[in-house]
Amino acid sequence: MKGMMMHQPLLVSEILEFGAGAYPRAEIVSVRTEGDIHRETYVEFRDRTVQLAHALQSKLGVELGDRVATLAWNGYRHMELYYAISGIGAVCHTINPRLSAEQFIYIVNHAEDKVLFLDTSFVPIIEAVKDHLPKDLAYVIMTDRAHMPDNSFGALCYEELLEGQPTEIEWPQFAEDTACGLCYTSGTTGNPKGALYTHRSTTLHAMMMAVMQSTTFGEGRSVLPVVPLFHVNAWGLPYASLLVGMNMVMPGPAMDGPSLFKLMDQEKVFSAWGVPTIWQGLLGEIKKQGRKPEGFGDVVIGGSAAPRSMIEAFEKMDVCVGHAWGMTEMSPVGTHGIMPKWMDDEPFDTRIDYKSKQGRRCFGVELKIVDEDGNRQPHDGKAVGELFVRGNTIVSGYFRNEEATAKALDAEGWFGTGDVASIDTDGFMTIQDRAKDLIKSGGEWISSIDLENMAMAHPAIAQAAAIGVKHPRWDERPILVAVLAEGAEAPSLDEVRDHLSSEFAKWQLPDDVVWVDAIPLTATGKFSKLNLRKLLADYTHP
Ligand code: ADP
Repeated sequence: MKGMMMHQPLLVSEILEFGAGAYPRAEIVSVRTEGDIHRETYVEFRDRTVQLAHALQSKLGVELGDRVATLAWNGYRHMELYYAISGIGAVCHTINPRLSAEQFIYIVNHAEDKVLFLDTSFVPIIEAVKDHLPKDLAYVIMTDRAHMPDNSFGALCYEELLEGQPTEIEWPQFAEDTACGLCYTSGTTGNPKGALYTHRSTTLHAMMMAVMQSTTFGEGRSVLPVVPLFHVNAWGLPYASLLVGMNMVMPGPAMDGPSLFKLMDQEKVFSAWGVPTIWQGLLGEIKKQGRKPEGFGDVVIGGSAAPRSMIEAFEKMDVCVGHAWGMTEMSPVGTHGIMPKWMDDEPFDTRIDYKSKQGRRCFGVELKIVDEDGNRQPHDGKAVGELFVRGNTIVSGYFRNEEATAKALDAEGWFGTGDVASIDTDGFMTIQDRAKDLIKSGGEWISSIDLENMAMAHPAIAQAAAIGVKHPRWDERPILVAVLAEGAEAPSLDEVRDHLSSEFAKWQLPDDVVWVDAIPLTATGKFSKLNLRKLLADYTHP
């Protein structure tokens, strides 16, 4: 028997209308590329978004299903684009400006974008590649007339587009499985692959986050997405914040430690979200200033494993760490490290142990780990297996890519993450490694994440990445690539190995430490194992 309840499609425009109606005084505060700070309330944000929606339709001819690309930092105009594009049934295609020119060209052509909105900083990127982009692509620079930069591609001006447009709209209604967003994975191998989000998946993800992040979120609190809006929807914050009435503080292009500290201090940011490499900069500044930014009480770390030493440093200054795990293909959040109540009575070290894990699953995200033959492994904290996920916020395939789509799901319809994990009896998951980053030595596996984590706990090591280097006898042997902490003297190999030996067996210890000025990063701010492998391609064992 069917129930008798209304069926309203879950649409992104409703998130906008809800936010502006329920929290009219909440703000979006942005560091602008123009150099100043801009503030707008949710109501002003909603009105400008409606104006943009009208402009997209009437001036740029954008229709249902068209892809509209953005190349922009975190700021209010980017937020307006998110909602205006999706609101009219087009697809907001966020592009990572740190991609190579080749990948950028591939993505814009593959998506067949109709319009490209860009921040002033990215004019040189377009000048360099414009001949390789679709001929009929329209460009809009996200600034006002006074700040319009010279360009040779006939770009329109964002603020001029909005001028005179009405602030009233009847948002179009369509099926909730209509596409609303598109984000390509950075594609460490092969061409980037597009995750095509729906209004339904995006709305459910926002609701899921609002539930899961109950200790982080709160009306009137300020949240700082350092994680870019061009990287998996800034982990869903642009949507979840409007459900709970958080002020959003947008850092623009300045994401170094001193700039973040100053902004957080000024805006009394409670919760800040980003990848570990970002927090290293902030922690350095906190150390210099001898205090944390005012009001700072919560940090969400994800994208790659949060080093234990980083978690400890934050917790010691009473900043609660939420260690999250997810993927572009998962909208992106899958698990989150909110601590259970019983953990309050546990010693500090045990709490840090748990925070170093990647947390428990979110409602609506099922997890399974399997062995090489696809057999399910128990969630006993010991069994390790390849991690598969299933749920309404996870891709069922890739945009215009039949080959990758065919390989995305297993026979039971689960998505293979490519990560290797264990799950304990309390439901906490530990990511051991990406399957392709595990180091295989003499037939046994070594987790590169564990090695890196422990190495970065050494006071003289600021950053460390572990990779397997081909070895004639052992198949692969671990090598550590490390950056020295400021003012420290390089420890000898024996000292580093000594430090690691409390946690690792002798055969698991790295054969060498290669000191570098900086570890190469991917477009999303993670250690680039691909580039490290290239760096050590000619390495010969001592
Ligand atoms: P890309 O690396 O292409 O940008 P994603 O950002 O979607 O793609 O990366 C997802 C991957 O990042 C996961 O499969 C996992 O390997 C890694 N990852 C994300 N969060 C964590 C975490 N908290 N701990 C360890 N690994 C993580």
